[in-house]
Amino acid sequence: PADRPALLEVRDLARNFAGLVALDGVSLSLRPGRITALIGPNGSGKSTLVNVVSGIYQPSRGHVVLDGEEIGGKPDHMIAQRGLIRTFQDPRLVPSFTVRENILLGGQRHFRSPMLAAALRWPSTLREEADMVRRAEQVMALAGLDGVADQIIDSLPYGYRRLVEVGRAIMAEPTVVLLDEPAAGLSEAELGRLATMIRHLRDTGKAVLLIEHHMDFVNDIVDDVVVLDSGREIYRGDMRGMREDPAVIAAYLGV
Ligand code: ADP
Ligand code: MG
Repeated sequence: PADRPALLEVRDLARNFAGLVALDGVSLSLRPGRITALIGPNGSGKSTLVNVVSGIYQPSRGHVVLDGEEIGGKPDHMIAQRGLIRTFQDPRLVPSFTVRENILLGGQRHFRSPMLAAALRWPSTLREEADMVRRAEQVMALAGLDGVADQIIDSLPYGYRRLVEVGRAIMAEPTVVLLDEPAAGLSEAELGRLATMIRHLRDTGKAVLLIEHHMDFVNDIVDDVVVLDSGREIYRGDMRGMREDPAVIAAYLGV
């Protein structure tokens, strides 16, 4: 459904760090039930875009409109509360909590940090929420995490932590989800589970932005592709066109 109104509109977004232009006028639209890949070499501004859109960094210029409302420069917890949920390149979980407990924290959309959410909300509210616990079980089944539900995060291999982070995002019932390199370091089996989770987000009408280097993985699940280089869009279209695009090839070859 490419014609449904966008849930997230990014217009001419820019961000400088001292003298460095990390993001230089990027625009994109995320629509419900569609997966957009954001691709580009290291340092091209992908994480910066996610950080600005999700309220971690202030924009230097431009607009971010979530479901019709300008959110550019708003605090991250407010943006999360409005339904935009992101994951981090390095999973941010509560290491001493179990898988189930970390997934449950997603039910608290506005957590500023998982640690803070844990301190404020656990166990008084969450434990009593039978409905949330049921949903968490569904998310864990979807992610293939039901076998490790009671294990402490710290005791699990890295790939599991990534899946838990995406599971926590699903648990938040977002409208827009930004996934920053969720496939990095995953085994083939884990990639399959991640793909199932991302398709679930799509099939339940979320707008998904997927930052990913793993091209076979991206190829299998995305609808649209945007490629950045040095903070600017150099390609927009489908995967097939991207592979043959001279600007994209040049960016990756460094010429
Ligand atoms: P990507 O995610 O595409 O690899 P980033 O968005 O992380 O790229 O980085 C884009 C550029 O912005 C890089 O040159 C990076 O060093 C710089 N950058 C990102 N975050 C900061 C920051 N907090 N302070 C200074 N420079 C930053
Ligand atoms: Mg990055």
